[in-house]
Parts: sequence; C-alpha cells; structure tokens
Amino acid sequence: MKRIVLSLVAMTTMLSCTAQKGYWQQRVEYTMEIDMDVETNRFSGKQKLVYENNSPDTLDRVFYHLYYNAFQPGSMMDVRSRTIEDPDPRVEDRIAKLSKDEIGFHEIKYLKKNGVAQKYEMVGTILEVELDQPILPGKKVTFEMEFESQVPLQIRRTGRDNVEGIEYSMTQWYPKMCEYDKEGWHANPYIGREFHGVWGDFDVKISIDKNYVLGGTGYIQNPQEVGCGYEDPSKKMVSVTGNKKTWHFKAPNVHDFAWAADPDFVHDTTMLNNGTIIHFLFQNDTLGENWRNLKSFAKKGFEYVNANFGEYPYKQYSVIQGGDGGMEYPMCTLITSEGSFAGLVSVTIHEGIHSWFQGILATNEAKYAWMDEGYCTFAQYKTLDYLYEKNTLNPLSRNYMGYIRLAQTDKEEPLTTHADFYKLNGVYGSNAYSKGAVLLMQLGYVIGEEALMRTMKRYFNEWKFKHPTPLDFKRIAEKESGLELDWYFEQFVETTNTIDYAVKSVEAVGNKSEITLERIGDMPMPIDVIVYKKDGDLIWYNIPMRIMRGEKGEDIIKVKRETLVDWPWVYPQYTFTIDIPVSQIAEVVIDPTNRLADIEPTNNTLVPNGSPASEEIVPFKGN
Ligand SMILES: [Zn+2]
Repeated sequence: MKRIVLSLVAMTTMLSCTAQKGYWQQRVEYTMEIDMDVETNRFSGKQKLVYENNSPDTLDRVFYHLYYNAFQPGSMMDVRSRTIEDPDPRVEDRIAKLSKDEIGFHEIKYLKKNGVAQKYEMVGTILEVELDQPILPGKKVTFEMEFESQVPLQIRRTGRDNVEGIEYSMTQWYPKMCEYDKEGWHANPYIGREFHGVWGDFDVKISIDKNYVLGGTGYIQNPQEVGCGYEDPSKKMVSVTGNKKTWHFKAPNVHDFAWAADPDFVHDTTMLNNGTIIHFLFQNDTLGENWRNLKSFAKKGFEYVNANFGEYPYKQYSVIQGGDGGMEYPMCTLITSEGSFAGLVSVTIHEGIHSWFQGILATNEAKYAWMDEGYCTFAQYKTLDYLYEKNTLNPLSRNYMGYIRLAQTDKEEPLTTHADFYKLNGVYGSNAYSKGAVLLMQLGYVIGEEALMRTMKRYFNEWKFKHPTPLDFKRIAEKESGLELDWYFEQFVETTNTIDYAVKSVEAVGNKSEITLERIGDMPMPIDVIVYKKDGDLIWYNIPMRIMRGEKGEDIIKVKRETLVDWPWVYPQYTFTIDIPVSQIAEVVIDPTNRLADIEPTNNTLVPNGSPASEEIVPFKGN
C-alpha cells in the first residue's frame, strides 16, 4: 500500500515539474527561540536549522547573512552610502554617526553541525563557515547556533524606533543561511539592497514584554495567549512567564521571516472572498482613519490580483505599520503611514503584490530586480486602474516617462546590472521599477494582451515557491504566444539600446497611399500603425518582425486588424501601400496605445502632406 502511495506522489511531482526538468533548490527548516529585552534593545536567540542539500554538489562550506552588522560605522553599507553620488536620503551618513548602543550587531556564541562545533569567521555581514565534514548531495544536516544581537536604530528597512514611533521593525534580523543555487553561493555582503533566500519552513517563538503587540510572517499558534484580536478557538494555549509573553509563529514554505512589535499597535482584519484574512497593525493616531479605510481597497486589490495573476496561497497576510516606506516580506509588509490616503493605498497594493513577485515567485532580486520590482509595479498600476475604475489603455504612462527620461541620457545601465553595482541609486530605481514594468507592458504590445495575461498566470503556476530566472519567464511567454522572443529580452534586458520609430512619409500613388515607416533606434520592434480617416473610420495595421516567426494574438485594441508582411529588422525603412487615397487620410499614428517605449514619440504621428522619403535608402516593400 505504502509503495503505491509513494509512486503516485512521485508521478504528481513529475507532472508538475515538466517545465523545470533538472531544477533543484536547497531547503531549510528554521526553529528559533528569541528572547527580547526591550530595555536594552537586545535579544538572545537559539536557532536550529535543518539544511537539505538538494544540489548535485558537495558543500565544504556554508555562509550566513548577518544583516545587522551593516549598521556599524565603516561597514560596506555605510561606506557605499557615503561614496555614491546620490545616496538614499534615509541612509546618507547616518550609519557613520551611530553610537555604541545604536548600532546593530550579531555575536555568534557557537555554531554546531550535527552536534560538532564548526569553525567560522564573521566577515562584515557574512558569516563564513568551514565545515568539518562536507555536506554531500541529497543529505540533510542540522546546524545549531546561539547568538546575541542588538537591534540597530532604524536606518533602512530594519531597526528600532522608526520615524513614526514603531518600536521594532524586525526585518533582516536573524542569522540567515545564504542561498546556494545552480550559480553557486550568493553570499552577497549587505550594502542596503535586495535579497535572495532559501525556501523552507519557519517555527519562531518570540518572548517579549507582555505589553507589546506583534505581527509578522506566518500564523500565530497561540492566539488566545497573546490576545489582541488574534483569538481563534481552534488553537491551544501556550504559557506566559513573568512579565513576558511568548508569541509563537509558524510559516510554511517561505524564504524569510519578518516581524514587528509595538505596545500601541491596534489590530484589525478583513476577509477576502476566498477566506484569506488580511491583518492590519497600526498605531491608532491621527492617521488611524486611513488604516481603517484601507481595508476595502486591500480586499478588492488582493481579489483582483488573485483573479489575474494566480491565487495567493497562504491563509493570511499582514499589513504592518513600520519600517521606512514600504518593504515586502513573505506573508507581510512593513509600511509607514505618512502621506495621503491614495499613497497608502498605492504602497499597500504594491507591497501586497510583492507576495506574488518575490514572495512566491522568488527571483534573485539582487540580479533581477526588474522581475520583482518591475513586474510588481506593472501589476500595481493595473490593480490601481481597476480599483479607481479608470480603464486606461496604458495605466503605466508614468513608468514609461520615467524610463524614457533615463533612456534619453547617457546614464542608463542595462537591466542585467547587479543591484549592488549600479553607479547611481536613481538609475537602479528607474531600471528596476520603471523599465521593468515597461518591459512587461510592452511585451503585451508585442505578443498581445491576452497572451501576456496567460503568460503571467502560467508563470505563477509553474514557478511558485521556486526561483525563476529571466529565461524561465521568456520561455513561458514564447509558449503562450507562439512567438520567438529572444531578441526582445536580449535587447531590452541586456543592452541599453532604445526604440525610436517614425512615420516617414505618406505619399499618393494614384488612388492609393504609400506609407513609409523608419526605424531610427537600435532596438527593433513590431509596429502597430493606425490610419485614421477623415470620416472618423480607422484601420489598424500590424507589422510583425521576421525574427518573431509569427504575429501577435488578441490585443487591447478592439478593431479589425490587418497584418502586413514581416519586417526584416535590418531594413531601416518599410513601405506599404493601402487602398485609401491620401486625401481621405487624417493622420497615420504608430502605436496609439502608447505601449511602445519609443523614446522620441513626436515623430510617431504624421498628417499627410506628401513629404518625400529619403532617396538614398531602399525601403523594404511590405506589400
Ligand atoms: Zn517593490
């Protein structure tokens, strides 16, 4: 009987993994007991970590992140912030000015593997561990560690006493195993940006002064005990000792664990149509009203994303006041409540959607920030457009402007740049958020909106709880569209080539019109061109590129489309003839949906006056 069950399980696994043949990922099981002293802002921790080496490699060392060590004068994060031309205003030289009781640190008391003490060295924000015996492929080992840590004054993302008076924003707060994948170890020093973690389960007990209210990643196991509105009669009690309460969280299948604590937190909830509960933890001050009004937007937003991007797989999510802006963690976010209500809605939607892009589709953010921030921004503006019932053809126009403004300068760096290595923070921001979002919106222009949204769902279903790469996403877009898309990702991700097309001329040829388009930019694209007639009629022509080996499917323009002969992109010009006299044409417009990231949109429209095409260049004759 057991054998049959096993083979059934094996079959299911095989079926669901067809897209990732040969894919593997490491696995962790953390059990942590944390004892927080709110007087000294220090905590002691016991960590048991079961580490499963699913790689085909023998590991003779491992690495842990020790993020708190970044918050010390002279750390890499401090020096980077003081030497980069445009430092994050939240950081600037604040780390350099931290006093002894304001810095963050981890002190490792011991580290054992399978009961045997290991040799380790703390090197900035990384703990380098030389293993006594290597971990063989397919083997599990248990690491045990005891540590003492000091919570830094809030500088960036994590820390105590943030600008809004939240006492503990506990993110990047524990010794965390670095990820090892097919590219090897990712033991990146923390200089303030982007994360990559190992998938697994967390069981975390936090003992803290009994007046504090906590929220974070995972499900609370002892809700009656901790109270504060978390009560659930199905859960059992856990003991209280002295003036401390122990909060017990379990988080299955996540790649990080974050929490926040404040004595003034109030707790509120809303429930989605599928039963998922969204928790809100905030200070009930003058902005408390905003938090209560946020509930209906969060609910509607999550339901929209569930329907369009795949279903959020956990039973709860927490929106917690904390941090220094907005930052995503598995099953929760920390956001500040400053500013307008619309701003609070927008940040909550953005951070909530990170549950999909990063929380569940855990791309290596440091390498592919555009797949996490960009895709999240794409879904954020689509969701906001839905929430405010705007029905815009391109709700990402601001992101297009952001990208185009940068692309017109010589400061742009390719999207392949590692997040830590950008010359300017501003370029990182524009690339990760704007260009990344444009990449996706524009992909809809290339393959059609319907194929794009099918791609998004399939991407979620095939890659949830894994670490997808750009190639994995590209392959799904190719399968869903039936088009070859190498050129698109190569050009837009790996280079800073830009797009510029123009309507060169509209000329009378007897009773017909000859339209010539010109490619000015280095990056070639398929072209939608609309001929608006003076009688109000319009005709949509689509010119695929030969390199695509096909044409796009259903798109957002709901008028009949005529597909013209493919454009071999090396031809700088393309001419086609239409059965409409020039006298009847009001104007000819390239991509009126504004999804083409054309850096010079002024030449995309031509009102015919018979201006001649260039004599030197032989245009490709489209039909
Ligand atoms: Zn984000």
